[in-house]
Amino acid sequence: MSASPAYRGRFAPSPTGPLHFGSLVAAVGSFLEARSHGGEWLLRMEDVDEPRCPPGNDVLILRALEAHGFAWDGEILVQSRRKARYRECLDALVEAGSVFPCACTRADLAGAPAGIDGAHVYPGTCRGGLPAGREARAWRLRVPEGELAVDDAVQGRIAQDLARDVGDFVLLRADGYFAYQLAVVVDDADQGITHVVRGADLLDSTARQAFLQRCLGVATPEYAHLPVAVNSAGEKLSKQTLARALDEASPGPALVAALGFLGQAPPEAFRRASVPEIWSWALAHWQLDRVPRRRTLPAPGLESAGEEERS
Ligand code: GLU
Repeated sequence: MSASPAYRGRFAPSPTGPLHFGSLVAAVGSFLEARSHGGEWLLRMEDVDEPRCPPGNDVLILRALEAHGFAWDGEILVQSRRKARYRECLDALVEAGSVFPCACTRADLAGAPAGIDGAHVYPGTCRGGLPAGREARAWRLRVPEGELAVDDAVQGRIAQDLARDVGDFVLLRADGYFAYQLAVVVDDADQGITHVVRGADLLDSTARQAFLQRCLGVATPEYAHLPVAVNSAGEKLSKQTLARALDEASPGPALVAALGFLGQAPPEAFRRASVPEIWSWALAHWQLDRVPRRRTLPAPGLESAGEEERS
């Protein structure tokens, strides 16, 4: 890898289960945006939430990516092996007075209003010190009042007031695991990521990450948030909503469907094209500004595409 490329993107799946159509969309979008800029595309296993990431899924994900014709640059970063690094960054924030220990339990926060992503806005209980007789459970980052805006290449300007919309957020969880927000910011910085292309379910996390980047003195990458595939109930495709794993024996239809989902209008005849043919068309035609400016979109009916093929 070159020292400081103009474009370095990444795909950062959480190995909670095998790859499904929703994760394929993020992989396709981030890959094409990187390659069409002559950039690098790195891979990261976001297994920081270890209890939710049973072993073996990482291998399944790599195999599915290969079957779908993806090639990545450099070493794969694995979050569960980076705890010492996260600890070092948290220590620096402790030293700077940017974080504080928090004794609050879920029950303590139950009465607080809901914030931007449905979680409670932290009411500031332990901000000025732990209440007498209580012990630290988690560590939280002190957030400022006032607007913090991020210009997203797909979704436009996203402004949040972290104090009002989120509150001081957790960097080290009560169960001892580091929080995604800390891991992702440290990893994006350490991997030298210049451009983050990912699902819009993370749009509301971006202001938090931009603020944390500031606290750690690292650069804020460019962001582009792609629409997230939802099922007929409007739920994000995920392991919890029983999204189907991608079919490695027949990668073409899902790739073509992902391109269509991202507004790229692949030719109808592509349903029978080979994986290299699909990628060569996609690389020649990819345009980020065709991606729908939507946070969610219904997932295409992959079953019916498969059935048509067989008839
Ligand atoms: N690990 C997250 C996911 O699989 C993606 C995080 C990110 O791209 O920042 O949804």
